Amino acid sequence: MKRKTKYYTNTKLFVILLAAMLLCYFSKFKERQYNIEEIFSEEQSEPPKIALTFDDGPSIYTEDLSEGLKERKVKASFFLLGMNIEGNEKAVKKLQEDGHLLANHSYHHVQLNKLPTSEACQEILKTNNRIFEITGNYPMYVRPPFGEWSDQLDCGVEMIPIFWTIDSLDWKIQNTEKIVKKILDEVEEGDIILMHDGYKTSVEAAFRIVDELQKDGYEFVTADQMIME
Ligand SMILES: [Zn+2]
Repeated sequence: MKRKTKYYTNTKLFVILLAAMLLCYFSKFKERQYNIEEIFSEEQSEPPKIALTFDDGPSIYTEDLSEGLKERKVKASFFLLGMNIEGNEKAVKKLQEDGHLLANHSYHHVQLNKLPTSEACQEILKTNNRIFEITGNYPMYVRPPFGEWSDQLDCGVEMIPIFWTIDSLDWKIQNTEKIVKKILDEVEEGDIILMHDGYKTSVEAAFRIVDELQKDGYEFVTADQMIME
């Protein structure tokens, strides 16, 4: 009898010990799993960013470009030429509705820092006014043609210049495959890509670039978001 009681006590002790060990193991396992999820979600919240920018528009291709970007949930930046706005007002409105950044690229595509102040300011202000007439907003950003800008230029309104880090040369290449290859070969996190929406090949290339880079986890932001980082 004595032996039997001892046997039961040992079994009970063993079961309790086993339960405690299992509990300990699973709670640690759960903790480990939780940590992995946490790290993963941190990585997920900071995807690499790219900004697509289009100069010299609007053009006959701009609405299609805006629509294609919208389908891909991409916001881009458009540096508009004042002289190209007339006749393309619908495109400008659509760009605004689709949430793109609208900015200034002068009126006549001139080198602003070579002009007398009054003429340079006219280039800026006339384009700002054209954009305001359609959207109800004055642009805050400018991409000076040829990247030539003087911080001394004072037109009474603050214009923040935005340049680029990759020049696609799309206007020169005008071949969808080659434009896509050039950009994908060069692209890195944080790049601001310069393109032009006046060419069908550029629009096609932009869609392909978005599709490829989204697959790689890139997120597309507007150029103002990129320079604020
Ligand atoms: Zn330009």
